[in-house]
Amino acid sequence: MELRYTKWGLANRFNKYILVNKDLLEFPDLYSEVLKHELAHTDKLFSASDLKQDIKVDHFAWKIFWFSITHPRALVQLLPIWWYEGEFVFDLNMLFMWSFIVIGSLVYLRLLL
Ligand SMILES: [Zn+2]
Repeated sequence: MELRYTKWGLANRFNKYILVNKDLLEFPDLYSEVLKHELAHTDKLFSASDLKQDIKVDHFAWKIFWFSITHPRALVQLLPIWWYEGEFVFDLNMLFMWSFIVIGSLVYLRLLL
Protein backbone atom coordinates (compact mmCIF):
# COMPACT_ATOMS: atom_id res chain seq x y z
CA MET A 1 0.00 0.00 0.00
CA GLU A 2 1.39 3.41 -1.01
CA LEU A 3 2.02 5.94 1.76
CA ARG A 4 1.57 9.66 1.16
CA TYR A 5 2.51 12.31 3.66
CA THR A 6 0.70 15.44 4.71
CA LYS A 7 0.98 17.90 7.58
CA TRP A 8 -2.73 17.61 8.46
CA GLY A 9 -4.77 15.12 10.47
CA LEU A 10 -3.40 11.78 11.64
CA ALA A 11 -3.99 9.20 8.93
CA ASN A 12 -6.69 8.16 6.48
CA ARG A 13 -6.94 5.14 4.25
CA PHE A 14 -8.09 5.58 0.68
CA ASN A 15 -8.38 2.91 -2.00
CA LYS A 16 -4.80 3.00 -3.22
CA TYR A 17 -2.92 4.81 -0.50
CA ILE A 18 -2.77 5.84 3.13
CA LEU A 19 -2.37 9.53 3.85
CA VAL A 20 -0.28 10.04 7.00
CA ASN A 21 0.75 13.08 8.99
CA LYS A 22 4.50 13.36 8.37
CA ASP A 23 5.10 14.56 11.94
CA LEU A 24 4.17 11.04 13.11
CA LEU A 25 7.53 9.89 11.69
CA GLU A 26 9.15 11.53 14.72
CA PHE A 27 7.25 9.04 16.92
CA PRO A 28 8.05 5.59 15.45
CA ASP A 29 5.94 3.62 17.96
CA LEU A 30 2.86 5.75 17.43
CA TYR A 31 3.46 5.83 13.67
CA SER A 32 3.46 2.04 13.45
CA GLU A 33 0.32 1.77 15.64
CA VAL A 34 -1.46 4.30 13.42
CA LEU A 35 -0.43 2.40 10.27
CA LYS A 36 -1.62 -0.88 11.81
CA HIS A 37 -4.96 0.80 12.54
CA GLU A 38 -5.31 2.06 8.96
CA LEU A 39 -4.33 -1.30 7.46
CA ALA A 40 -7.03 -2.99 9.57
CA HIS A 41 -9.64 -0.87 7.76
CA THR A 42 -11.41 -2.17 4.65
CA ASP A 43 -11.54 -0.31 1.33
CA LYS A 44 -15.34 -0.15 1.48
CA LEU A 45 -17.01 3.25 1.45
CA PHE A 46 -18.76 2.38 4.71
CA SER A 47 -18.87 -0.78 6.78
CA ALA A 48 -19.76 -1.77 10.33
CA SER A 49 -16.26 -3.20 10.87
CA ASP A 50 -14.68 0.12 9.85
CA LEU A 51 -16.93 2.01 12.22
CA LYS A 52 -16.10 -0.44 15.01
CA GLN A 53 -12.41 0.01 14.22
CA ASP A 54 -12.75 3.77 14.73
CA ILE A 55 -14.86 3.83 17.89
CA LYS A 56 -12.86 1.26 19.81
CA VAL A 57 -10.44 2.89 22.19
CA ASP A 58 -7.00 1.76 21.19
CA HIS A 59 -4.24 1.27 23.74
CA PHE A 60 -2.42 4.18 22.08
CA ALA A 61 -5.34 6.63 22.47
CA TRP A 62 -3.41 8.74 25.02
CA LYS A 63 -0.45 8.99 22.67
CA ILE A 64 -2.83 10.16 19.92
CA PHE A 65 -4.33 12.68 22.33
CA TRP A 66 -0.89 14.00 23.30
CA PHE A 67 0.27 14.12 19.68
CA SER A 68 -2.86 16.09 18.71
CA ILE A 69 -2.35 18.60 21.54
CA THR A 70 1.29 19.16 20.59
CA HIS A 71 0.60 19.07 16.82
CA PRO A 72 -2.74 20.94 16.55
CA ARG A 73 -2.94 20.43 12.77
CA ALA A 74 -3.69 16.79 13.62
CA LEU A 75 -7.08 17.91 14.99
CA VAL A 76 -8.27 18.23 11.38
CA GLN A 77 -8.74 14.46 11.73
CA LEU A 78 -11.93 15.19 13.68
CA LEU A 79 -13.59 16.96 10.74
CA PRO A 80 -16.11 14.92 8.74
CA ILE A 81 -15.32 16.78 5.51
CA TRP A 82 -12.01 18.23 4.37
CA TRP A 83 -10.12 19.25 1.30
CA TYR A 84 -7.27 17.26 -0.27
CA GLU A 85 -5.57 17.71 -3.64
CA GLY A 86 -8.31 19.92 -5.04
CA GLU A 87 -11.31 17.93 -3.94
CA PHE A 88 -13.57 17.38 -0.97
CA VAL A 89 -12.92 14.22 1.00
CA PHE A 90 -15.61 12.76 3.24
CA ASP A 91 -14.93 10.71 6.31
CA LEU A 92 -18.21 8.81 6.67
CA ASN A 93 -17.34 7.40 10.09
CA MET A 94 -16.67 10.90 11.39
CA LEU A 95 -19.88 12.12 9.76
CA PHE A 96 -21.75 9.32 11.51
CA MET A 97 -20.11 10.06 14.87
CA TRP A 98 -20.77 13.80 14.66
CA SER A 99 -24.42 13.16 13.69
CA PHE A 100 -24.70 10.84 16.68
CA ILE A 101 -23.19 13.47 19.02
CA VAL A 102 -25.30 16.36 17.67
CA ILE A 103 -28.60 14.44 17.56
CA GLY A 104 -27.86 12.81 20.93
CA SER A 105 -27.17 16.24 22.49
CA LEU A 106 -30.35 17.74 21.02
CA VAL A 107 -32.40 14.84 22.38
CA TYR A 108 -30.66 15.11 25.77
CA LEU A 109 -31.33 18.87 25.93
CA ARG A 110 -34.95 18.19 24.91
CA LEU A 111 -34.57 20.38 21.85
CA LEU A 112 -35.54 17.43 19.70
CA LEU A 113 -38.23 14.79 20.38
ZN1 LIG B 1 -9.71 4.55 11.47
